[in-house]
Amino acid sequence: MNNSKIWLSSPHMGGSEQKFVQEAFDTNWVAPLGPNVNGFEKDLESYLGDGVHVAALSSGTAALHLALLMLGVKTGDEVICQSMTFSASANPIVYLGATPVFVDSEPETMNMCPRFLEEAILDGISRGKKPKAIVAVHLYGMPCKMQEIRKIADAHQIPIAEDSAEALGSTYKGKKCGTFGDISILSFNGNKIITTSGGGAMVTKTAEQKNKAVFLSTQARDNAPHYQHSEIGYNYRMSNICAGIGRGQMEVLDEHLQSRRKMHQFYVDLFAGVEGVRVFTEPNADFYSNHWLSCIVLDPEKTKITSEDLRLTLERDNIESRPLWKPMHLQPVFADCAYFGSDISEKLFTNGLCLPSSSNLTDNDRERIAKVIRSLFNR
Ligand SMILES: *Cc1c(COP(=O)(O)O)cnc(C)c1O
Repeated sequence: MNNSKIWLSSPHMGGSEQKFVQEAFDTNWVAPLGPNVNGFEKDLESYLGDGVHVAALSSGTAALHLALLMLGVKTGDEVICQSMTFSASANPIVYLGATPVFVDSEPETMNMCPRFLEEAILDGISRGKKPKAIVAVHLYGMPCKMQEIRKIADAHQIPIAEDSAEALGSTYKGKKCGTFGDISILSFNGNKIITTSGGGAMVTKTAEQKNKAVFLSTQARDNAPHYQHSEIGYNYRMSNICAGIGRGQMEVLDEHLQSRRKMHQFYVDLFAGVEGVRVFTEPNADFYSNHWLSCIVLDPEKTKITSEDLRLTLERDNIESRPLWKPMHLQPVFADCAYFGSDISEKLFTNGLCLPSSSNLTDNDRERIAKVIRSLFNR
């Protein structure tokens, strides 16, 4: 058996990406605008449905930065963010001079706990600092408890920035993730379910919001023959080359989603009957995850094996795995930020592990993964 590296989540080209990229070269649209950018936006709009508008941008982080800006976040404001997430969910809050307030997860979806969210909001209000926005995340593709979170947000009239970077293709109550936020964002980084090598998008409810995002992301040029500016702009638009990759990837998105879900089922079967291992799965039929990454959570008292033992054993066989996101309230850079919650995300971080989930894994790869895991769990 060959021993080539098995990645956690690798890019996976479908075939027609190069055709769109070649077209860009042939027509000299080698710029951060052009037919691929427009085409990719149209593809995403029809995929997401619900009448949304999409602005293709240079990254998911840039999209969240502009989303928070457009939701009115300013210097000195507070913004609530799920603690257990990738740092890119929280960094844009700081770019705007605002302060993140972190909220713990609930164990069913590993996403923002509605109870602690409400606690954080009430605390802010009691200090005369009502949070300006809520960053809600769908970790590993698992939709957050959007109905409860939306109810609380609406009750206090706080807008939601939906970080759907990991959840393209996931649905909650039949509606696509990326369409729930007052503004939502997607990522097409190299490790996501589809990639443009690097890229992202803002998803909006109105054409005006989309136009505003395009305006801000192209240096905020006023309508004049010369360069005139009444607002601070950004250079955040997506390249027409990258968008060409995106158009090709849209043709295989549903296949990728099914392959990722197949990997999840593979782990469900592999760990069936192993005491003390929970394969992270949808809590009920309202939730449909793209299973961007398959995750397990160990109970080391029962397994007698830690997640780090498993990670190192896989690594010895050239198989990549990774701990779950380390919560932001435990990160040195956010040590001074407020936190509402208990130890739920911390425990998930300690005992969890993301397993290889790429859509291009082969039967041979799965055999190698199964062999290592079976040997470690004595099965
Ligand atoms: C990847 C990711 C982002 C950022 O997207 P980039 O395109 O890499 O900037 C934001 N939030 C979450 C949860 C992510 O996983």
